[in-house]
Amino acid sequence: MMAWQPKTPITSVYQLLDANICSLCGACVAACYWEAVYFNPKEPSRISREPKLCVDCSRCLIVCPQAMLWVKKELYEQDVKPLDAYQARSKVEKVLSVAQDGGTVSTLAMVALDKGLVDAVVLAGAGERWSPTPVIAFTADDVLKCAKSKYFYIPSLVELGRMDGIKKIMVVGLPCQIRAIERLSELDVGIARKVAYKVGLFCGHNLDYASVVEKLLPKVGVSVEDLAKMNIKAKVIFQDKSGKSYELPLSEFESLARPACLQCPEFVSRYADINVGSIGAPDGWNSVLVMSKSGEELFNKAVAEGLLETKKPSSEDLDRIYKMDKRKRSNASKYFKEFYGVDVGIQFLDRDTWRVISR
Ligand SMILES: Cc1cc2nc3c(=O)[nH]c(=O)nc-3n(C[C@H](O)[C@H](O)[C@H](O)COP(=O)(O)OP(=O)(O)OC[C@H]3O[C@@H](n4cnc5c(N)ncnc54)[C@H](O)[C@@H]3O)c2cc1C
Ligand code: SF4
Ligand code: SF4
Ligand code: SF4
Repeated sequence: MMAWQPKTPITSVYQLLDANICSLCGACVAACYWEAVYFNPKEPSRISREPKLCVDCSRCLIVCPQAMLWVKKELYEQDVKPLDAYQARSKVEKVLSVAQDGGTVSTLAMVALDKGLVDAVVLAGAGERWSPTPVIAFTADDVLKCAKSKYFYIPSLVELGRMDGIKKIMVVGLPCQIRAIERLSELDVGIARKVAYKVGLFCGHNLDYASVVEKLLPKVGVSVEDLAKMNIKAKVIFQDKSGKSYELPLSEFESLARPACLQCPEFVSRYADINVGSIGAPDGWNSVLVMSKSGEELFNKAVAEGLLETKKPSSEDLDRIYKMDKRKRSNASKYFKEFYGVDVGIQFLDRDTWRVISR
């Protein structure tokens, strides 16, 4: 599965890309002034590079949420501590008709735009043949077009490099993408200051586009042109446009995972303002973990506007989420040790100069 198993610290993003530790969050593309890394939609399963333009400044590596794992030991150790927890479902019919689960994410994005809390929302869309498509949404219609989970990497954070004239944004992303925004803030990259709300999605793990389209879909005999929906529960479920469902064991999905996801400790994002998923909620509903005051205000606004219905989860419902999070941290920690030959928590960046240092 792995072309190369690093046993030493990664000191450049190119090295990280070669080792498949990239989860295509898109942050390095937004952070690189020199366009030495970029996303080419014709190569949707990787970040492309132009080594001749690279000035070896390390900005890419500093914002990379995968390289960050070297310095954030607590991510592997600390339990999730939300301010509050709910089950929620949209009351907006046109959201429910397209959403993955309860449509809470799309509803929050629509409320933030409609109430002028943000000018735009960074989302993950799908183009022709479900191709990974980073999107900046300005309207409710833009948001609806991005509904549904795409179980492959979409480097939506590249859009952070195209924020001219936009003052405030919401970002919807997987935990690694939300981690990248935290890194951008630490580096004090201007675009990070525009992020008013971070909405995290629970994430077991993810695949690259080619693995889904070229390896998994042929196993169930569905063409990507005919694919209507995908879902990961205890099984991988594909639905075609006639509504027929096809299933694969979860192990088929897991066997294609990249080191990026195997070393990732977050099922629930620690840096999001609010996290949304499906585990722990009835079908057609979302589990929601409120993580910050601004996440709470946004959620309360959607409820006060009559756009979300809510109920409280039972302790068993919440335990299902926390168990998944714990299991992911434990697996990632073991994998990390095996992959790098060291325990997590190695100080890897010089905090004063932000330069990469080797051990
Ligand atoms: C790769 C992946 C793995 C997941 N794993 C789990 C899991 O193990 N357990 C669990 O409970 N939930 C998981 N989820 C979350 C779940 O699938 C739903 O996204 C969540 O319940 C929100 O549902 P919703 O109806 O509110 O979403 P919707 O209102 O339909 O909105 C979905 C939003 O997700 C964003 N999105 C879609 N695909 C991607 C992507 N590839 N990368 C970044 N953003 C994306 C879109 O921008 C859209 O705004 C995962 C999601 C993804 C994308
Ligand atoms: S080291 Fe600097 S120039 Fe090179 S790819 Fe990274 S951010 Fe771009
Ligand atoms: S994980 Fe993100 S920041 Fe790191 S190399 Fe991949 S796209 Fe770039
Ligand atoms: S498992 Fe982690 S690295 Fe992989 S897509 Fe999910 S959040 Fe990103």
